[in-house]
Parts: sequence; C-alpha cells; structure tokens
Amino acid sequence: MIEIKDLHKSYKTGSTALHVLKGINFSVAEGELVSIMGSSGSGKSTLLNILGMLDEADAGSYTLDGVPIKNLNEKIAARYRNKFLGFVFQSFNLISYKSALDNVALPLYYQGIKRKERIEKAMSYLEKVGLTPWASHLPNELSGGQKQRVAIARALASDPKVLLADEPTGALDSKTSHEVMDLIQKINEEGRTILIVTHEHDIAQMTKRIVNLKDGVIIDDNKVNQVKALQNV
Ligand code: ADP
Ligand code: MG
Repeated sequence: MIEIKDLHKSYKTGSTALHVLKGINFSVAEGELVSIMGSSGSGKSTLLNILGMLDEADAGSYTLDGVPIKNLNEKIAARYRNKFLGFVFQSFNLISYKSALDNVALPLYYQGIKRKERIEKAMSYLEKVGLTPWASHLPNELSGGQKQRVAIARALASDPKVLLADEPTGALDSKTSHEVMDLIQKINEEGRTILIVTHEHDIAQMTKRIVNLKDGVIIDDNKVNQVKALQNV
C-alpha cells in the first residue's frame, strides 16, 4: 500500500539546514496497523505529512497504492489525497459552528454527493463510532474522546485506503486514549490500513507493528507480537 525508499527531508532556515529525515526505508501492506514512535522532534510528523501528501520529500521515492507520488500539481495531489487518505489530528480540527453530523458530512459535500446520501452516510459513520445520539450536538458540547470519534468518522466518510493519525490520543486522558485506540483497532480489523504517530509507549503497544524513529532514521521496526514472544522466552 505504502512504499518508501531512502527518503530525505531538511528544513532550511536562513543559512542553516536541519536534516530531519535521513534515509527512511519502509513499506506498509494493506490492512496493517502501524505506529510510528519516537521522542518529540524525531521527525514523526514530518514523515506523516509526507505520507499524507501535505509535504514533499527532498529525495527518495514514495509510492502509494501503486502510484508514484512525486512532482504532482496541486490539483492532482488534492484529488489523490481525497481518494486515498483520511486524516486525524491531535487537536481534532472540527468546525466549531457545525454539528457532529455536519462535520462528518462535509467531505462528502466536496465530493459532490447529494444531500440525502451525505446525511445517510454521515449518520452511518457516526453510528460506527458510537455517537448516534450526539449527531446534532456542536463540538463544544462533546467531550475530548467524543470529538476525536467525530473526527475519525469524518476521516472515514470518504472511504480512504489509508487512515493517518498524528498523536490522535495526545490531548486525551489515558482511559479515553484507550477507548479511542479500541475504536482504531476495530476499524483496522475491518481491513483498513492505519498509521498512527505517537510518543506514548502504551498507545504504540496497541498497534500490530511499531516503527521506532530516532534522529531521522528508523532504529527499530517490530511486529508487536514478535516482541511479546521474545519477552516471554
Ligand atoms: P515530531 O513530530 O517527531 O515531534 P517533527 O517532524 O514535527 O517532529 O519535527 C522534527 C524537527 O523538525 C524538529 O526539530 C522541528 O523543530 C523541525 N521542524 C518541523 N517542522 C519544521 C518547519 N516547517 N520548519 C523548520 N523546522 C521544522
Ligand atoms: Mg509531531
């Protein structure tokens, strides 16, 4: 689904350049649930933004569902983004004056789907995340965990191939974090490919594979069950 080869990224500020990604190689198969772990500043968001086509690498290659992602014009990039990718952020990024239902339905509006179908689809995704009774509520009437579940429903509404989440539990207490991760696991079990960025070990442990990033390189790439098996020896 995702294939990355020798990816490099630097940020230039004035005369100095900060080399953030220093040759990243990895691939993700369809149906995987992967976490990208690393301390603050290790380049996790930079990598996720490149995977999400929100930013471009300086060197290396990226192939998404067989499509080489390079030098795309903004229009084509936007089309691929809408078709392939769903995003979830730490800060939810909901529209404050729109109801939960309208937040979920909005991406469908941009896809040109008619109102009746938008509402039906949005309701079905709200049901999937357990928020049917909250459909007409505004974001500020929802708890943090509920807001993140609305954001997840919104990300799923356009039926993306891959769900990308940058610190999806970063603003939540630990009980709520685990509930959101339970939901992410459930969505993965239905076959959706999911990548999450986190710096929390217990969150990463709830994924099937942990990719450890340090100083711009992958220092570890483990299937969790293999790690657990080794620890049990
Ligand atoms: P993480 O998500 O792991 O905390 P980031 O990918 O956000 O790390 O950042 C990696 C490094 O790149 C940090 O040192 C950060 O300050 C720097 N950085 C991130 N974005 C930019 C930017 N747009 N311009 C300059 N430096 C940046
Ligand atoms: Mg980050």
